[in-house]
Amino acid sequence: MLDKVLIANRGEIALRILRSCKELGIKTVAVHSSADRDLMHVRLADESVCIGPSNPQDSYLNIPAIISAAEVTDTVAIHPGYGFLAENADFAEQVEKSGFIFIGPTPEVIRLMGNKVSALQAMRKAGVPTVPGSDGPVGQDPQETLRIAQQIGYPVIIKAAAGGGGRGMQVVHTEAALLNAIHITQAEAKAAFGDDTVYLEKFLDRPRHVEIQVLADGQGNAIHLGDRDCSMQRRHQKVLEEAPAPDIDPEARRFVYEACIKACLDIGYRGAGTFEFLYQDGQFYFIEMNTRVQVEHPVTEMITGIDIVKQQLRIAAGLPLAIQQKDVVFRGHAVECRINAEDPRSFTPSPGEVTYFHPPGGNGIRVDSHLYTGYRVPPFYDSLVGKIISYGSSRETAFNRMKVALDEMVVEGIKTNIPLHRRLVRDGGLRRMEFNIHYLEQLLSDH
Ligand code: ADP
Repeated sequence: MLDKVLIANRGEIALRILRSCKELGIKTVAVHSSADRDLMHVRLADESVCIGPSNPQDSYLNIPAIISAAEVTDTVAIHPGYGFLAENADFAEQVEKSGFIFIGPTPEVIRLMGNKVSALQAMRKAGVPTVPGSDGPVGQDPQETLRIAQQIGYPVIIKAAAGGGGRGMQVVHTEAALLNAIHITQAEAKAAFGDDTVYLEKFLDRPRHVEIQVLADGQGNAIHLGDRDCSMQRRHQKVLEEAPAPDIDPEARRFVYEACIKACLDIGYRGAGTFEFLYQDGQFYFIEMNTRVQVEHPVTEMITGIDIVKQQLRIAAGLPLAIQQKDVVFRGHAVECRINAEDPRSFTPSPGEVTYFHPPGGNGIRVDSHLYTGYRVPPFYDSLVGKIISYGSSRETAFNRMKVALDEMVVEGIKTNIPLHRRLVRDGGLRRMEFNIHYLEQLLSDH
């Protein structure tokens, strides 16, 4: 096993990673900004290093500072978590060049999947179903672009090849609006990502977001850990997730699992990863791959009993996958609510001191959170302060337990979106599985 791991992240995921390291007897190094000295995992880690001021550019995104911290602490491997540098191929490369293990895929694979055009091409080659669209970049030749869009059929969505986080996308309903919209998206993509490459996809009107979790060891073994539904989104940000995805065509599901495994082997994937799909009318359409652990990974852990972070650590240590596909058994149902420090109505961030914190508990309830009474949520980072995960033998039980948990939970001093979740878990449309990715925003605009 790895001797010492540096956790290049903060908040709940840093604590999550620390817990698995401790369980495996791995020593831990927490790196943090000057605003984050009081983070729970910093207190629990064997060692901690302040890597810079509060601004993420100077700390959690500061590659030389993180590498130096690894050097002075005799770290063996670096876990990037999610967000920050987790999908930055240059970071992975520099980690390896400096003699450390990057806990994730190779820089080449991160690069391949980080560009949406090359990712789509690799997936099509592996037989993974994709959204009908242009085979590559568009926008160079206006006539050709119009012809491709005509062939796809309106509405189409223009997407930046380097886009992410729900940015660099635009829906176009008519031919008359296409070329202008492409110019705008290109300019935005250039400014935001430094790359103005854009491509076209058919815009699906009422898809669900369904994703497949995979594990691969980079030594010829790959398995899937089933699916998750993440359709409850606001501004392309997930709010509530569940596993397994309810009401999926069994044939389509079997097919897409196989395709994802084949794709992992084709591209030489290593580590935990997620294939994201849109699902509509019984069909899966690949949209992108996340080459890291995801916020919503616990729902999969609950229904499989597999610790995904532990598997990442094992794979990084060079061990072959110890779990075969036939050993993966899906049991029951799990739901996750993301708890954000924000106003539940206006969604404006609500940092500040948590004057009282009481997490829920009981049968089938898991809380992944770095909050404690007296902790001060800094204003500089993502507003996610925790996750409640509920498990039950049925979807009904999992939702009912979540309802109880949300009613028990107390966070005072800051505002959170708990009231929104309390409403959501009682919502008839969600409970009856009558939803798509637009559902939550429609619900919010109705009130
Ligand atoms: P990002 O990398 O920015 O997250 P994605 O490609 O994963 O971008 O898309 C984010 C979200 O945008 C999806 O979850 C879905 O809500 C919407 N979306 C993306 N592609 C399409 C499409 N072809 N049709 C309809 N909605 C789409």
